[in-house]
Parts: sequence; structure tokens; C-alpha cells
Amino acid sequence: MLVTGGSRGIGRAIAEAFVANGDKVAVTSRKGGAPEGALDLVCDITDPAAVEEAYAAAEAAHGPVEVLVANAGITKDTLVLRMSEDDFTSVIDTNLTASFRLAKRASKGMLRLRRGRIIFISSVVGLMGNPGQVNYAASKAGLVGMARSLARELGSRGITANVVAPGFVETEMTAVLTDEQQKAITDRVPLARYATPDEVASAVTWLADAGYVTGAVIPVDGGLGMGH
Ligand code: NDP
Repeated sequence: MLVTGGSRGIGRAIAEAFVANGDKVAVTSRKGGAPEGALDLVCDITDPAAVEEAYAAAEAAHGPVEVLVANAGITKDTLVLRMSEDDFTSVIDTNLTASFRLAKRASKGMLRLRRGRIIFISSVVGLMGNPGQVNYAASKAGLVGMARSLARELGSRGITANVVAPGFVETEMTAVLTDEQQKAITDRVPLARYATPDEVASAVTWLADAGYVTGAVIPVDGGLGMGH
């Protein structure tokens, strides 16, 4: 399996869960730093040549990739009137366009194998919206349409495409929020806390096993989105 952005946070927990399961795991990130037992590939997913190189290296080391987890993502939050074109396009490039690039590359090998799992890490924010995250929410909502189209295109070949939509998770991405912002979030979450990265990883390993689930959006959000 290959997970993007597996050097820290949610991606790292996903990589560790697959390693613990005895799977061959390749991890990409810009700075590098895979968990023990995983192949560490340095790759900026916004660079098509780097993605091709990393994917080929993963295949050379481990054979065909049966599970792709497109997890790497960034935020550039600001209110819409202050949001520059670059704030918008750079978030779309990393979170959405790079996910398309990876899914396209992955589907090549999966079509040959006649099986595969494509899993996108979206966000509850893609479904509910969030002030200051016009760029991020658009990118994460886009993953839902992408997964459902892939599910329809590739389903007859034994390939599933699904989305995991976490709520707020304890990682570096959310560590930048102030105590006040964090309290405002947990006040709205029925389970009244953030998720741990492991709790997101367990939805991903479940999807990797699930042979008859495709085009689904699995919320891991403590009830924030009430099933959406
Ligand atoms: P982190 O910021 O902790 O980690 C992001 C990972 O992505 C790092 O490994 C980073 O490595 C990598 N990355 C970022 N940009 C690129 C790039 N251009 N090319 C390759 N790798 C890249 O994020 P989280 O673990 O918090 O989030 C993971 C995913 O989950 C994201 O898609 C995020 O949007 C989503 N999510 C997170 C939530 C949260 O509350 N934390 C909630 C809902 C969804 P490096 O910097 O070395 O490239």
C-alpha cells in the first residue's frame, strides 16, 4: 500500500496500522520520515514527475500497489476577501489535483490486477463548510465527487473508491488553533473531544478490507456532521 503524507499526523498513523497488519507500506512526504517498517519516499505530490518516480519506486520495491491512501493535505486559512488566488490554487493543487494525479496513476496498476482500493482523506469541513476555509472546503468536497466518479468508472474491475471524512484530529495541523478556537470546536462535537490519528486510521484499514463498499463517505468526526 502507499500513503501520501505518511511522515506525521493521520498519514503516519495509517502507515503504522498497515505495517502492524503485516502489509508492505510505502510512505511519501516532502521532507521524508516514514515510520519504522515502511519505505520512505521523498516526493512533492504537486510535482507530476516526482509522483511518477515515487510510485515507480514503490512498485519496484513492493510490487503492484493494491491500496492507495491519498492523505497529504494543507490548509491556508483566511476569510474570502483576504484569500489570494495563490491561497486558493495552492490548496486545490495539493489537496485535489494531486489526489487526481495519484488516483490516475494507481488505477493503471489496479486495472491490471483487477482489484484495488482508492481511499481519499477528506474532511467534515468539505461537507459542512467553515468560515476561513473556502479553499480547503472546496478541495475536500471535490474529493467526494472524484471518489464517486472513480467508483462508477472502476467498480466493474474490482476497484473501490471511498472517502474518509475526519472531524478535528490531534495533529500539527490543528495544533496551530488557539485554545479558544479548540474549545469552540469541541463544544460543537457530541463526543466533546478531538479524534486521535489512530481513530482515523482504523476507518482506513476497515475500508481496505471492505469488498462491497464503494462511493461512500465515512465520517470519523465525533458526531459533528451527524453522518454526512
Ligand atoms: P499534518 O500537517 O500533520 O501532515 C501532513 C502530511 O502531508 C505530512 O506528512 C506532510 O509532510 C505531507 N504533505 C503536505 N504537503 C505535501 C506535498 N505537497 N507533497 C507531499 N506530502 C505533503 O496533517 P494531518 O495529519 O492533520 O492531516 C492529514 C490529512 O487529513 C490532510 O489531508 C488533512 O486535510 C486531513 N484532515 C485533517 C484533520 C485534522 O484535524 N488534523 C481533519 C480532517 C481532515 P511534508 O511536510 O514533509 O511534505
